[in-house]
Amino acid sequence: MAIGSLARRKASTILSSRYLKYSFSVSRGFASGSDENDVVVIGGGPGGYVAAIKAAQLGLKTTCIEKRGTLGGTCLNVGCIPSKALLHSSHMYHEAQHSFASHGVKFSSVEVDLPAMMAQKDKAVAGLTRGIEGLFKKNKVNYVKGYGKFLSPSEVSVDTVEGGNTIVKGKNIIIATGSDVKSLPGLTIDEKRIVSSTGALALTEIPKKLVVIGAGYIGLEMGSVWGRLGSEVTVVEFASDIVPTMDGEVRKQFQRSLEKQKMKFMLKTKVVSVDTVGDSVKLTLEPAAGGEQTTLEADVVLVSAGRVPFTSGLGLDKIGVETDKAGRILVNERFASNVPGVYAIGDVIPGPMLAHKAEEDGVACVEFIAGKEGHVDYDLVPGVCYTHPEVASVGKTEEQVKALGVDYRVGKFPFLANSRAKAIDDAEGIVKVIAEKGTDKILGVHIMSSNAGELIHEAVLALNYGASSEDIARTCHAHPTMSEALKEAAMATYDKPIHM
Ligand SMILES: Cc1cc2nc3c(=O)[nH]c(=O)nc-3n(C[C@H](O)[C@H](O)[C@H](O)COP(=O)(O)OP(=O)(O)OC[C@H]3O[C@@H](n4cnc5c(N)ncnc54)[C@H](O)[C@@H]3O)c2cc1C
Repeated sequence: MAIGSLARRKASTILSSRYLKYSFSVSRGFASGSDENDVVVIGGGPGGYVAAIKAAQLGLKTTCIEKRGTLGGTCLNVGCIPSKALLHSSHMYHEAQHSFASHGVKFSSVEVDLPAMMAQKDKAVAGLTRGIEGLFKKNKVNYVKGYGKFLSPSEVSVDTVEGGNTIVKGKNIIIATGSDVKSLPGLTIDEKRIVSSTGALALTEIPKKLVVIGAGYIGLEMGSVWGRLGSEVTVVEFASDIVPTMDGEVRKQFQRSLEKQKMKFMLKTKVVSVDTVGDSVKLTLEPAAGGEQTTLEADVVLVSAGRVPFTSGLGLDKIGVETDKAGRILVNERFASNVPGVYAIGDVIPGPMLAHKAEEDGVACVEFIAGKEGHVDYDLVPGVCYTHPEVASVGKTEEQVKALGVDYRVGKFPFLANSRAKAIDDAEGIVKVIAEKGTDKILGVHIMSSNAGELIHEAVLALNYGASSEDIARTCHAHPTMSEALKEAAMATYDKPIHM
């Protein structure tokens, strides 16, 4: 039965030691009455806007500065939300083309209306970003639209989007300036034919041939969108595997699934150059280990080789905030930088570059500033690739557990044996549970299935409470649900599944 408790660990922020730099506390007091803020947040993404709302809810006088003109950061404007909108729309088109008939739903023809698809995405984005402005008003967060730069550790000069300038003062300043696309040497992103994820979310035509450089989550999601809409997609990856952070066994099944969807992979391959020639783009490739060069033509090339922290023009040098070689701001377990009163959260600090991690950082950071305790465990941040099937995971992969020398058991259950998955004819995938042999404590859960991104949270909660596989196996799950596959995989871990 359960051998841990979240409540016991609540009074701490568990950032792996590899992410930490400073071990002293540097928060300042609070403002009283003046125009000075208790908290100033630079950046209105998931880290920044959540920190600002939480700070205001804790009674702190708060201002958030955002240069984009809309709130929500990368995530809402050019990341999570528009990509999921297009993934959903393109999945519906693909289903209409390939699956509806077998469910007895027939059309005489199905076609893509790309402008309408893009308009639906833009509507979702606009509604959500405006919603955050509403939340700022409701919680009395002061919102300044403009580019912030440090004048001192407690003063930020803002060049406003209207063309003016204002100074915002704060006892505590949180840097939440996020990240930007990582470019590759010798390659110019024009957002038309050589695009970043931002351009790939706004193409005006379906490319005949799309080459994706980088087989990470973003590259595979965007490759899926355009592949479903009709592009011939080739993914070029320097490493020997797609998504290296994924559990190896699940990754192999995932790659096979994407290949069945006609996505091509060129692994262990280096992009030497990318040249625009007339209407097309020519890529020169080479084996990662060196060797004979080949060429590949595309209408559009998506550069998806990762993201880098964004601190340009912020004036970090001026106040002496320390960064690492990758440009990430170094913080301690309370999100404090080396400069007293200056904090950092989200993509701009070490750790997984994910929206939900940025949000957790934001809440914990302001809780520390307010003299309370915060809680984030970077080892239990779930990761989801929103392709079809989705792949979701939390905790350790089998490779990681092996490397740690831990004795472990694995329990697996295929969705082919799950009644709900069979009923809806969407049974591709597997649940894999990894537990410590001696204690049965769950160390990692990996799910590949439709809606895996929703199913994973039962496992996230289980790991947070230090649950055993028997805890999940003995928990009554509603029937018929996809979640029963996790229960069965848990049964397979400590004993035997029923339906296999
Ligand atoms: C295509 C794509 C898909 C993604 N999908 C997912 C997903 O499905 N799930 C997930 O968890 N994550 C996803 N991500 C990652 C996610 O978007 C980021 O991890 C998240 O947005 C980070 O939040 P943040 O608040 O740290 O930074 P950001 O969201 O980058 O926000 C930072 C904000 O700060 C502003 N800013 C920067 N400098 C200044 C300044 N000097 N003054 C004022 N404002 C400034 C920027 O304009 C920006 O709005 C995706 C990213 C991309 C690109």
